[in-house]
Amino acid sequence: VKNIPLIDLKPTHRKMEKAILGAIRDAYRRNDFILGEDVKALEKDMAELCGVAHGIGMSSGTSALEGALRALGIGPGDEVITTPFTFFATAAVIAYTGATPVFVDVEPGTLNMDMFKLEAACSPRTKAIVPVHLFGNPMNMSSVMKFAEHRSLFVVEDACQAHGAVHRDRPVGGWGHAGCFSFYPSKNVGGLGDGGMVVTHDSDLAEKIRLWRNCGRRAQYEHVALGRNERLDNVQAAVLRVKLKHLTAWNKERDILADLYHRELKETPVRPLEVRENSRPVYHLYTVRAPRRDELQKHLNGRGIGAGVFYPLPLHLQKAFAGLGHKAGDFPVAEAASREVLSLPLYPGLSWTSVRRVIAAVREFYAS
Ligand SMILES: *Cc1c(COP(=O)(O)O)cnc(C)c1O
Repeated sequence: VKNIPLIDLKPTHRKMEKAILGAIRDAYRRNDFILGEDVKALEKDMAELCGVAHGIGMSSGTSALEGALRALGIGPGDEVITTPFTFFATAAVIAYTGATPVFVDVEPGTLNMDMFKLEAACSPRTKAIVPVHLFGNPMNMSSVMKFAEHRSLFVVEDACQAHGAVHRDRPVGGWGHAGCFSFYPSKNVGGLGDGGMVVTHDSDLAEKIRLWRNCGRRAQYEHVALGRNERLDNVQAAVLRVKLKHLTAWNKERDILADLYHRELKETPVRPLEVRENSRPVYHLYTVRAPRRDELQKHLNGRGIGAGVFYPLPLHLQKAFAGLGHKAGDFPVAEAASREVLSLPLYPGLSWTSVRRVIAAVREFYAS
């Protein structure tokens, strides 16, 4: 029998090879490489997807987050709140600006930020919140925005795993002062390399991010700020435009497969993450909490089934953040999650037969 990888891009890439190579060839023949017409078109597409006015193509999701925070004036002396149960970049970008990441534990059901613990994490230095829509599951953005407004805080959404997810009829990324996306190859929309995007309804903010990503340049040789080179390549944008057209269909497929997992795993000891009422997730990953997680992972891997742990070590216990002075026990929900979560294969093009094989292997493990 064939292996079932955790994520496989081949089934979708095979089908769209002609369209993608065609888009690359067009850009190649136009010699359109830096901030070209595909970048502008993709910026427009992403802004539209999120229901906002501006998109700014960036070199990665990391640079999207960093550019948004810097453009909001976040820097040394400031504190920015996020969760310890996310990809490293979410908190690293806060530190890149010179500000201090302040962690708030996650809620056990969704593994998104626990709103009840937010107040206690605020200080007079708090400037912004970076909520994460983990695994494509929307954070309760109406509460986040209400809280932020009340306290005059900025909100930068980390929507790097949540292209197309919706909370209360509004797409994620379009709620905060800025929303940030990654086009890392395995994300719900991924390039043939790195890429990212900031979306925002604020024209001034959009202009500042544009300056920062392009050497602080207002005109070709007029540099009004230091800035950096964090531009999205036009060739990547050309590929991403082809892929973005499939996002809705792919997310729908993810949803159907997740549903199959939900239904068929009900009788087993594994528990799927919860989805809030009013939220439409996009299942970047299908993640469960599993008793005897490490043994289950080994069992599945031994049967040729890819099962991965996101994330095995919460950020407050990472060496890179040792300077923050945290210790084990500081964020118990995140720490418990890191011992229990397991993500099962889920990607467009994955067959029902394969999902059933994964489910059978999970059942077999707990029956023994
Ligand atoms: C992927 C990811 C990022 C970073 O995106 P890159 O494009 O890899 O820089 C940030 N936050 C989260 C939650 C992510 O999943």
